[in-house]
Amino acid sequence: MPDAIIIGAGPNGLAAAIHLIQHDLSVTVYEKEASVGGGTRTRELTLPGFRHDVCSAIHPMARSSPFLQSLPLGDYGLEWIQPEIPVAHPLDGQPAGALYRSLDETTDHLGKDGESYRRAIAPFLDAWDNLLPDILAPFSLRPRHPLLMARFGLQALRSAGGFVRRFKTPKARALFAGLAAHGILPFDKTATAAIGLVLGIGAHTVGWPYPKGGSHSITKAMAAYFESLGGSIITGTAVASPDQLPAAGAVLFNTTPKQILDMAGEKLSPDYARKLRRFEYGCGVFKLDLALSEAIPWTDERCRKAGTVHLGGTFEEIAASEDDTAQGRHPERPYVLVAQQSLFDDSRAPDGNHTCWAYCHVPNGSTKDMSEPILNQIERFAPGFRDCIIGRHSMNTVAMHAYNPNYIGGDINGGKQDITQLFTRPAGLFDPYHIPDTHFYICSSSTPPGGGVHGMCGYHAAESALKQLSAGSIK
Ligand SMILES: Cc1cc2nc3c(=O)[nH]c(=O)nc-3n(C[C@H](O)[C@H](O)[C@H](O)COP(=O)(O)OP(=O)(O)OC[C@H]3O[C@@H](n4cnc5c(N)ncnc54)[C@H](O)[C@@H]3O)c2cc1C
Repeated sequence: MPDAIIIGAGPNGLAAAIHLIQHDLSVTVYEKEASVGGGTRTRELTLPGFRHDVCSAIHPMARSSPFLQSLPLGDYGLEWIQPEIPVAHPLDGQPAGALYRSLDETTDHLGKDGESYRRAIAPFLDAWDNLLPDILAPFSLRPRHPLLMARFGLQALRSAGGFVRRFKTPKARALFAGLAAHGILPFDKTATAAIGLVLGIGAHTVGWPYPKGGSHSITKAMAAYFESLGGSIITGTAVASPDQLPAAGAVLFNTTPKQILDMAGEKLSPDYARKLRRFEYGCGVFKLDLALSEAIPWTDERCRKAGTVHLGGTFEEIAASEDDTAQGRHPERPYVLVAQQSLFDDSRAPDGNHTCWAYCHVPNGSTKDMSEPILNQIERFAPGFRDCIIGRHSMNTVAMHAYNPNYIGGDINGGKQDITQLFTRPAGLFDPYHIPDTHFYICSSSTPPGGGVHGMCGYHAAESALKQLSAGSIK
């Protein structure tokens, strides 16, 4: 009988498994798919030899994660690639914006807004390693670095719209819009500046790298390390109820609240089950992967050197597109995230060819094909781009949900990440991971710190389980 069982082998499930086995527990992971990975798999979606990241692609969060960085994943095949420019943001009729690794280069590039950008970012750069464990953690009344955290919080809790008032130029405003839009929320909402700040600071501290060979290398390395410690992973097993599994001291769900209600609803207290039923899911995504005969012919040279390109034009345009999706509409000119891994990783496509990874936000449950609006946005800044397409593969929110049951209605963050759900999700408890009066825990991105490949939800859930187990409160 294992001490602990994890349902789901996404990055958070594997992080929890590793942290528990590092504390001498016996751990078994059950995964529905034939391979581990959740949102990190890499597949030949279009043509043979073209390796596409099905979900996540760009990994400042994994590179920032205190837990993932503590693991010897390099020994298990994980190799990071840093593109020349972390992120570029083309604009109509004017030079593209860009975040460089160097803060000085970025402030020079931002011209009139350079000093405002420096004032917003610089205070946190040197202290980032101290601040991150507080940021990538559940809400605490006693952060490890209270003054630093308060200073960061004052900026991060602002809306993205409020935050950009410090910038005068369309370039700096658009650049920040591209960062903040990762939060998939309208820009007038409280704390929508937070994700923009974290990702902006990440560009200067750890870069926006991706793994050689594809995102799957992250979880393959995690799984190999876990197995080297004696852990067991059983793939191809969709768990319908914890009752079908061997008895264990702790069962950790790498799933979202809706699935926990389906699998174990009758075992939860009525109050807790009611809280899970109230948990809100956010907008979905439409994903498009392309095989290309050549690299995307961006007009602006910076975009040709960037791993990630944010499309959508000005701050106002991107704000309108995020408002549209939040209100159930499909924008004609959506905010689009593009990753071009093959520019710096020749294992992604046959010689001379390239891949393009792109997605846009859509209303939850949308079935609309957004391929044309996405292609139009790329063509807008890279005329002639359509002529390079030799293969394509798309997934609407229904296909996303079918691919991974955690993507409810196409929501890739395990639930809406607004201020009400950001810090104590999913049920508003001080320990968000432990399901009260049970030996169950939630270790998915439906817990703090939320979406992204960082494994910190899994780490904190494992910490919670270790506390309960050592207190002997679990039979
Ligand atoms: C299109 C897209 C782009 C993204 N881009 C990025 C990015 O660039 N960078 C980034 O950091 N993040 C990105 N993300 C988000 C990131 O992938 C997720 O936040 C992250 O994978 C969440 O990890 P997790 O371990 O909580 O869950 P998941 O990765 O979803 O893993 C859950 C696992 O549990 C399994 N499972 C579910 N139910 C069961 C069951 N009943 N029985 C057995 N197994 C089960 C699933 O099959 C899956 O393997 C993106 C996501 C998508 C979809």
